[in-house]
Amino acid sequence: MNQKFISALTLCFVITLFTASAPKKEKPDPKITQLLKDISSKNIETTILKLVSFGTRNTLSAQDNPTRGIGAARDYLYNEFQKISRECGNCLQVEKQTFVQPVASRIPQPTNLTNVYAVLKGTTNPERVYVVSGHYDSMCTSPTDPNCDAPGANDDASGTAAVVEMARVMSKQKFDATIIFMAVPGEEQGLLGAAYFAQQGLENKMDIEAMFTNDIIGGATTFKNAKNRQTVRVFSEGVPSNETEQQANTRRGTGGENDSPSRQLARFIKETADVYSPKFPVTMIYRRDRYLRGGDHIPFVERGFTAVRITETNEDYDHQHQNVRTENGKFYGDTPEYVDYGYVANVTRVNAASLARLALAPAKPKNVGMVTARLGNDTELKWDANPEADLAGYEIVWRDTSSPVWTDAQAVGNVTNFVMPGMSKDNFFFGVRSVDKAGNKSPVSFPKPVR
Ligand SMILES: [Zn+2]
Repeated sequence: MNQKFISALTLCFVITLFTASAPKKEKPDPKITQLLKDISSKNIETTILKLVSFGTRNTLSAQDNPTRGIGAARDYLYNEFQKISRECGNCLQVEKQTFVQPVASRIPQPTNLTNVYAVLKGTTNPERVYVVSGHYDSMCTSPTDPNCDAPGANDDASGTAAVVEMARVMSKQKFDATIIFMAVPGEEQGLLGAAYFAQQGLENKMDIEAMFTNDIIGGATTFKNAKNRQTVRVFSEGVPSNETEQQANTRRGTGGENDSPSRQLARFIKETADVYSPKFPVTMIYRRDRYLRGGDHIPFVERGFTAVRITETNEDYDHQHQNVRTENGKFYGDTPEYVDYGYVANVTRVNAASLARLALAPAKPKNVGMVTARLGNDTELKWDANPEADLAGYEIVWRDTSSPVWTDAQAVGNVTNFVMPGMSKDNFFFGVRSVDKAGNKSPVSFPKPVR
């Protein structure tokens, strides 16, 4: 072959590779753009101030006082969800899930706890569920003091208000899959409300495909001028909390410590924010949670569900878990003046866009395998066919092993296996996602080695 022919061939190959692999920039869906416009910082402020007005929402506080304590907060949230449901022609199923929490380290006597949630049933795949939550309990310095004032404006009236606002705007639209808007108690006593819901979900074989907890999303006003303020953190575990010893062995051999389902969800949320809120992007944090702290996503990941935590970038510890007081001229307490309602609204938009994209898209592909029957420089992937009627097909995505995000994608049609020629599975990470006829894409499933 002469030199000219070879260069022409090379050019041709490079062009083909480029057009095949460069992921098309996703255009915003007008349906999603509309619901982001509907999200109101004023409504969020109203909900936060109302929750603060109950004085304390400690899990051990009064359950039957209509104006003070966790019972008042529970009833308020239930009524809000009911009101939202009436506005959408009873489109929500509103539930109080009450259980008796036995004595635990922060529960001195058996106590009734009530998760309050609203279900927006999916139109075509109602059995597939996405959960978004905030915790409506609060605490002062002591988690077991039922009497002290615990306004909990940021921790976590902010997350609870985001959930209520999402229920309001998202219930005006229809989605393929089910979305559950949930407010839970007992977070400060050991993630108890979330753990109960996750355990029930496991026992009833609920298909909870993803869960987000919003906890401390108030954008503490103390840091109003901080450089990294126009962003929100999404925490995701790298290695699944429920990984078996056998799975750990496989991972030690071939990698995957940065590819748990929860990490894929974090990437999906980041990609969503890049399209729908480019001025308020997501910062992915590669850890399950912050030092010394936990959150309501943990009982979910421990039970094998996919879940992440969403939290403001700079936390102000003088205004969390503090008795409201002035000491040596300094004010302490989780009061509303330290919450930036515009910031909460931006975080709510990142949540709502991500949930909408998830619930409009097909489920992520199941049983995705990396075929390892022989050594070779081609990569073969296989997976189960999705059941959705509007499925168009699948995309194979890949990235360099040192890249934090998926960089390339190729549509491969409605098939259940595909060979990437000339791309060694040793040199890239690969994944598969589902795409429907409208172009909605699922999160990525990371393959397990199969024969
Ligand atoms: Zn919290």
